[in-house]
Amino acid sequence: MQPPSSGYALAGRRALVTGAGRGIGRSIALMLAQAGADVAVSARSQNQIDEVAAEIEALGCRAAAVPCDVTIPEDVERMAAHVHNRLGGVDILVNNAGMGYSHKFATHPDEMWHTVMAVNLHSAYYVTKAFVQGMIERRQGRIINIASVAAKVGGKYTAAYNASKHGVLGLTRSLAAELVSHNITVNAICPGYVDTPMTDGTVSGIVGYTGMSEEHARKYLESSSPQNRLIAPEEVAALTVFLASDLALGITGQAINIDGGAVTF
Ligand code: NDP
Repeated sequence: MQPPSSGYALAGRRALVTGAGRGIGRSIALMLAQAGADVAVSARSQNQIDEVAAEIEALGCRAAAVPCDVTIPEDVERMAAHVHNRLGGVDILVNNAGMGYSHKFATHPDEMWHTVMAVNLHSAYYVTKAFVQGMIERRQGRIINIASVAAKVGGKYTAAYNASKHGVLGLTRSLAAELVSHNITVNAICPGYVDTPMTDGTVSGIVGYTGMSEEHARKYLESSSPQNRLIAPEEVAALTVFLASDLALGITGQAINIDGGAVTF
């Protein structure tokens, strides 16, 4: 195993961030580039990933914007081939693409159960499989899965989301055990509510279901944190950069909360 050598710096490293068109993924992609990494960004919305790629290039790093639906294995394979052509490989993989969904369990639409599993869990399986062999061959890799505190606790109306995120932790811990001897670390980050378009959607949902004002709905989400606030995407990005760095070599198989102290295990 390599001893820690280059601190937080990521110059010469190549990263892929899924779901990088907006929200947490966009912030992670930009902060990885600020640390010096070349970054491929992926999502379904071409215009959004093009904008993020332009911002990465403006920071002086190589970028590739590769559209992909991470629920479709053939699309993931095509995306992986494109990323390999552009960057030559991936040292840092951030499985961030995801969706929120809430519904009463008794009348839960079956197709939404499968969709949530596909977007939040199966995607990490397909994308990781597409890049892990290269990491094994180079004996270097960092895999960071953006889970949620919903990976550790239950919640009413969110059975599919919570089950999918619990699955992400199972995948994280198993891969950490399997890949440790290849000098690859695998960790999960578990945020509470983050100030992103996904949370805007959650606020709209609460307004729709309850008739609460938007301001009250936002305050309700903020109150889930002992700090009474939403997490900023940059807070998740900063931890991702650290986990991707040489200094984090000793951290693997972990699921680290960023939630203002609401969940302490
Ligand atoms: P956003 O909805 O703001 O962004 C989600 C990103 O994922 C977009 O770029 C979207 O792009 C992409 N995406 C969604 N579905 C697919 C798909 N099928 N294929 C490829 N890309 C897809 O979400 P956040 O930034 O808030 O969330 C990012 C991650 O963080 C998710 O995994 C989420 O579960 C997790 N998280 C979020 C929290 C929050 O409060 N916001 C809290 C805890 C965890 P496009 O639609 O163009 O494909």
